[in-house]
Amino acid sequence: MRVLAPPLTFAAPTAGDDTWPSIVADAVDDLDVLADLLALDRASLRARCAPDPFPLRVPRPFLRRMTKGNLDDPLLLQVLNRREEGEVVAGYVTDPLDETAASPCPGVIHKYAGRVLLTATTVCPIHCRYCFRRHFPYEAHRLSAGNRTEALEYIAADPSIREVILSGGEPLMLKDAPLSRLLDALEAIEHVDMLRIHSRFPVVVPERISPALVERLAASRCRVTLVLHANHAAEIDDSVVRALAPLVSSPVTLLNQSVLLAGINDSADALESLSRRLHVAGVLPYYLHVLDPVTGTAHFSVDDARARDLVDALIDRLPGYLVPTPVRERAGQAAKTRL
Ligand SMILES: *Cc1c(COP(=O)(O)O)cnc(C)c1O
Ligand code: SF4
Repeated sequence: MRVLAPPLTFAAPTAGDDTWPSIVADAVDDLDVLADLLALDRASLRARCAPDPFPLRVPRPFLRRMTKGNLDDPLLLQVLNRREEGEVVAGYVTDPLDETAASPCPGVIHKYAGRVLLTATTVCPIHCRYCFRRHFPYEAHRLSAGNRTEALEYIAADPSIREVILSGGEPLMLKDAPLSRLLDALEAIEHVDMLRIHSRFPVVVPERISPALVERLAASRCRVTLVLHANHAAEIDDSVVRALAPLVSSPVTLLNQSVLLAGINDSADALESLSRRLHVAGVLPYYLHVLDPVTGTAHFSVDDARARDLVDALIDRLPGYLVPTPVRERAGQAAKTRL
């Protein structure tokens, strides 16, 4: 096994960590507060919801993009702990992807050739109700300071690994300095020449895209790709477009993945608007995920035939580069399955 070079220290971030942590800490976690901010009737909102161990959590910048007075707002439905989550539906399980089996050491998921996924943090600024990782035993699989060396040694020992994907949880919950140190350590592994960050943060709390973060990603010796996660055009308001601009003019590749969600984006119009809006922001659509059968998410499910019809409609309406690839994740497969 090759010994890792001590990480190069990157210039200390000058700006960036000052605003977003307080925005994250100030996320709304109370239904009455949510109702008041959205000018909704408290009782009607409560009647729709049931308590859940995966609690309500929605940062205010995301909340401000919701339409007031609309109980069916497509952004609201993504975060609302609705009663339907308690329904027991056959075929829906807590770990449909069997990710715990694909974990060679804590914090590492190695399922696909040439790339590994690191669960860099176990927390998220927002709780998306359809999340396929909502039941993931994060605490046992967290890349903590204590097991980071083991993870880095695993990657260093396997020259077939060219790309490291920081996922989560939310990798950008790491502040700029520790994130930079993690990137330093990955860049020190010679055969790693691609870094990828999967993050919903820039869409949810655009303040996270600090000058220091942009500078650090742009300075990487690796090709860096940032895969955002937006599901609806209304998520990409002008504040998000503005925040992404420095990344658009950097060497970082910007892509987006979405989840196809009943009642939120399961129409050709919604998906077309999303692709066009992403394009305005300088982001290209990558994957359109069909929902994994995770316990508590059946009410969001769209069947494969409908998913294919929707993508066919997009092919008729959009340039090819604005049509996302519809995929399903299947346990034990060597890649995501194209529909
Ligand atoms: C989705 C995923 C990847 C990345 O797959 P791509 O098709 O390269 O985007 C890697 N590892 C795991 C465990 C994944 O779920
Ligand atoms: S931000 Fe991503 S990982 Fe976190 S809850 Fe939402 S979908 Fe899940």
